[in-house]
Amino acid sequence: MKAIRRFSVRPVLPDPLGPLQELALNLRWSWHPESRELLRSVDPEGWRAAGRDPVRLLSNVTADRLTALAGRRSFLRQLRLAQEDLRDYLTGPRWYQQADDPRLPRAIAYFSPEFGITAALPQYSGGLGILAGDHLKAGSDLGVPLIGVGLLYRHGYFRQSLSPDGWQQEQYPVLDPYEMPLVELTGPDGNQVRVSLALPGGRTLYAQVWQVQVGRVPLLLLDSALAENAPAERDVTDRLYGGGSEHRLLQEMLLGIGGVRAVRAFCRITGHPEPEVFHMNEGHAGFLGPERIRELGEAARLPFDAALRAVRAGTVFTTHTPVPAGIDRFSEELVARHFGQGAELSGLDREQLLALGREPSGSAAPGGGTTAGEEPPSFNMAVLGLRTAQRANGVSTLHGGVSREMFAGLWPGFDPAEVPITSVTNGVHAPTWTDDAVLRARTGKLSDAALWDLRRALREQLVHEVRARVRTSWTQRGAGQAELGWVDDVLDPDVLTLGFARRVPAYKRLTLMLRDPGRLRALLLHPERPVQLVVAGKAHPADEGGKRLIQELVRFADDPGVRHRIVFLPDYGMAMALPLYAGCDVWLNNPLRPLEACGTSGMKAALNGCLNLSVRDGWWDEWYGPDFGWEIPTADGPAAADPARRDAVEATALYTLLEEQVAPCFYERGPDGGRLPRRWLEMVRATMERLGPMVTAERMLRTYVEELYAPAAAAHRAHGPQAARELAGYAARLRREWPRVAVDHVGTGPEPAALGGRLSLRVRVALGDLEPEAVRVQAAGGRVDGDDRLTDPVTVDLEPAGGPDISGRWTYEGKLALDRAGPFGWTVRILPAHPLLVSDAELGLVAQPEEAVTETPGVLFR
Ligand SMILES: *Cc1c(COP(=O)(O)O)cnc(C)c1O
Repeated sequence: MKAIRRFSVRPVLPDPLGPLQELALNLRWSWHPESRELLRSVDPEGWRAAGRDPVRLLSNVTADRLTALAGRRSFLRQLRLAQEDLRDYLTGPRWYQQADDPRLPRAIAYFSPEFGITAALPQYSGGLGILAGDHLKAGSDLGVPLIGVGLLYRHGYFRQSLSPDGWQQEQYPVLDPYEMPLVELTGPDGNQVRVSLALPGGRTLYAQVWQVQVGRVPLLLLDSALAENAPAERDVTDRLYGGGSEHRLLQEMLLGIGGVRAVRAFCRITGHPEPEVFHMNEGHAGFLGPERIRELGEAARLPFDAALRAVRAGTVFTTHTPVPAGIDRFSEELVARHFGQGAELSGLDREQLLALGREPSGSAAPGGGTTAGEEPPSFNMAVLGLRTAQRANGVSTLHGGVSREMFAGLWPGFDPAEVPITSVTNGVHAPTWTDDAVLRARTGKLSDAALWDLRRALREQLVHEVRARVRTSWTQRGAGQAELGWVDDVLDPDVLTLGFARRVPAYKRLTLMLRDPGRLRALLLHPERPVQLVVAGKAHPADEGGKRLIQELVRFADDPGVRHRIVFLPDYGMAMALPLYAGCDVWLNNPLRPLEACGTSGMKAALNGCLNLSVRDGWWDEWYGPDFGWEIPTADGPAAADPARRDAVEATALYTLLEEQVAPCFYERGPDGGRLPRRWLEMVRATMERLGPMVTAERMLRTYVEELYAPAAAAHRAHGPQAARELAGYAARLRREWPRVAVDHVGTGPEPAALGGRLSLRVRVALGDLEPEAVRVQAAGGRVDGDDRLTDPVTVDLEPAGGPDISGRWTYEGKLALDRAGPFGWTVRILPAHPLLVSDAELGLVAQPEEAVTETPGVLFR
């Protein structure tokens, strides 16, 4: 019989066991081994069956067992200690409180479409979500007052299995919020909190707010599966990244607009301070900007432009990908239909709203291809994010540079180096991503022999995990137990183990290792120095190409000749990830550079003493060192332009590295009894001790606080309604006058030919009706390339000299230092000047002479 309704009966715990509820519902257990151990001890047998999920464990445990525990004094004592420890953790001062810096924001709202905190809350698909989870956890540890905001997907992301012929199968198990570590946000009247959005055609989208407690950090998740919604609206939060354009737009409206409303309700109810900074993890939450523009319009009567200035001041945007498919784009027609009269944000001017997300014309970069006949989807969520945030960043040094190039079209007239996008390199939450055995061992104190034994124990733990998973997978693929004897010999705890696990978009090149199957076979079956490979990864359900790659890999791994040395494990996720990272010796990463914005799995591997073997992309480009692993060279020259040749060149380099460097280093044994690979252990130690501290989310979050959150909070406070109005007025006046702003004439003193000399400049400029204080006249000079472009200019502000001449023009003077030898070029330009602007490029206005307007013959301008 199939049930027509389901609901969950929450366990009633005997009074003395009450604190278990508190421990299970606060996700700190997911990175606190002591809490986890206590929860496990409630029912050690049931722990695995419950998928290591304390909420599930407590609802499965028998009443007899609970009664027995309630009478056991040693257990109650441990429980009391654990509860006290949690409360200390939640209330004591931490780094942020100790900093005691009045500039720091009272609260930060952090919006993300997915959060990966634990396998028990499967609300993530990959790196972006796990990064968001790590951000909240590090925030909790550091005492940063974050409020997380996301959606609760009733199916989460799919579970992956394989068909007999190796084709990816997707399952979407229904998630019951009452069986997850969630509590309803309720008002003072005890009723569930609802937010609502107005949809076209008089429809309304309602959502309930759930609260997850991530240590000290609350995470609010919006859920549209409500009886008062029509069926279509009920499904808005059905699954992560599901459905077509309209479905995605509704999800993103709910996240951005509904998310702000949920934060407001949460702060009102709990007394939590209101956020002074809003941080968007990628563009999906972009509509939080327009929603706050609406709020300011209603509360402070701020017109659109002024409200935009105020909103931008307190907003941070993080871009995560240079791959167009990773950025959401909608047709303007679709967006227009959902905003304005009779829909959401009806008080805002629809054209102004559309303009915020419009891709700059002629910009090739942020876009992708379009299907013939469709209106090009030119409303770009990353563009919306960049236009509504005064501060923006990429996620590694390399990616910061790539993003400045990619989005340079939004700041015409400025060099990519001046595009106001900085970078903060991602990090991973060390307590989550370090194996308990490594945490316990305090590896700095271990002898080489003990370190090698620890590494072997981790590898062996992985081998057992892999065998269990291979068995399950083959059973699902239809094999009987009698056929599966070989599984007990899959992998060898003494063989060099390589890992490769990630989502399967084309740029990550899952099958690069299969480029020359014979050579891979030889590596796997080498008589003295074999390698073994553990591979995992999910393809997006709509990505047929990705599924073909998985199938190709599975077919290779199915071959009885190699299946003891290479495995594909279905259903890559957080439950599998940690033993995999910790148990591998080498973590392989071979994306098409520079498309991996950062990458984080290699960082998690490093925390556990696994070495990296990677293309110099993302984080590995800045932190690669010969003590931490190996770099796979990137093809250059003509081979770089031809994808097939590029793959061939890079795959060859990979095989050669494995054959000639990685495997010999692992199997080399020292003279002292011949048990230890000295160089390998040196690298393991260097990776854990020197690389480990750099790759942490704690380092990342401190950087966000110091370089982005604190300045954004200061800007937010400085942009009160009066100041925002004034700044908007200034920007409008500047735009009006700008066509009349020009560098008219430039005179120079004698050109000094020697290093250390100074070039005198005298410049005449037209400013229209602007006063000199409204602008900055700047000279820039430095080395020039073959096209006369200044490559790394030094700038100096010129000073006004006297009043306007009879034609109303102003004179500016200054000196430019010749601080380097070789070809030298210089130019002069006029920029906006206002104390509330963060970057010269912010208003997108610059006036620069096109050609020589100088009285010294022979000096050219660019
Ligand atoms: C860390 C992690 C990722 C992201 O890894 P990348 O190196 O950024 O591809 C994806 N999935 C899981 C389960 C992870 O733990």
